[in-house]
Amino acid sequence: MNRAIPDEIVDEIRSRCNIVDIIGSYIPLKKAGHGTWKALCPFHQEKTPSFNISEQNQHYHCFGCGKGGDVFSFVMEREGVDFPNAIHLLASKCSVVIPEKTYTNPEERRQAQEHASQRERIYAINEEFAAWYAAQLREHPESPVAQYLLTRGIPDDIAARFRIGAAPDSWDASFKHGTALGFSEHELFESGILTSNENSGKIYDRFRNRLIFPIWNEQGKVVAFSARTIEKNSEGAKYVNSPETPVFKKGNILYALPLARQDIQKLGFVILCEGQLDVIAMHRAGNNETSTSHWRAIAMAIKGHRWDSGSKGFRHVFSIRLEFIAAHDHSDFLRPNAGSILRNAVTTNVGIADKQIHIKKCA
Ligand SMILES: [Zn+2]
Repeated sequence: MNRAIPDEIVDEIRSRCNIVDIIGSYIPLKKAGHGTWKALCPFHQEKTPSFNISEQNQHYHCFGCGKGGDVFSFVMEREGVDFPNAIHLLASKCSVVIPEKTYTNPEERRQAQEHASQRERIYAINEEFAAWYAAQLREHPESPVAQYLLTRGIPDDIAARFRIGAAPDSWDASFKHGTALGFSEHELFESGILTSNENSGKIYDRFRNRLIFPIWNEQGKVVAFSARTIEKNSEGAKYVNSPETPVFKKGNILYALPLARQDIQKLGFVILCEGQLDVIAMHRAGNNETSTSHWRAIAMAIKGHRWDSGSKGFRHVFSIRLEFIAAHDHSDFLRPNAGSILRNAVTTNVGIADKQIHIKKCA
């Protein structure tokens, strides 16, 4: 058995194994409130449930015996196994394949550790830049990017929820900011914040004068950025995205999933959109409709990956089967009555679980 399990495998297991499903496969759970469940504690004798699970935090805690932790510690405690064995148990539950790799060679182990710390540095860079781009947007309301956002009718609270930001119109502002924070040029390049000219090799800011959408993984960590042009008939790409990095693999991520996950689980369906701005318009539509405050079951497949009806990844994430059943033009959701259009679309098309609405057309 491979006992030195790579961090990305542990992360993948953590993202695929919802603590509610895992604990629910051992003991009966009772819904206690929004995103919380209760049960009789499996670790001490009791007649009234004091064992609590929070889906959002992916955490459990017993107020009777004080035991608590995450999905891994639950399995360790319940099965009486150590961490590597808990990893293997959970991996098989959520169909994650652990590569058969052992680090008998110290050089290999050193490289694996280096790789792990490289991942941490990239997460740190991404978090710093998400905050910085958002500040650029807030602090420069007169900038072309901020003005563009206004034309899309996205209010400040929604912009803040999605951490929308602005990349300055500069070739080296990100470089200067990153190095001032203590990151090396090499690290900024590896994270995808910087890029280089193929011919001259000159290094410069990847995102310039664009609207920035941070992309999170399921733990809510920023793994990449998607940057939209603000020019109408731009010759450049409409979207410029981070390259694949040690923390970002295209096709593994659903945009805005951490914001929608609970509702997707609860409602049993997801609405897929083709662009970030579509997703945001839909969240706003769902928000405006008071009776449908929970219609936030909206996420987006990052381009280049089809989360189609039988998608294995999708079933793993949601434990539900999805089918395309209807197509809508996203501009429907920019109208003042967007909330009721959305509600109708959902109720007429999604009367039952296991369905999804496919919103066509990119913003
Ligand atoms: Zn207990």
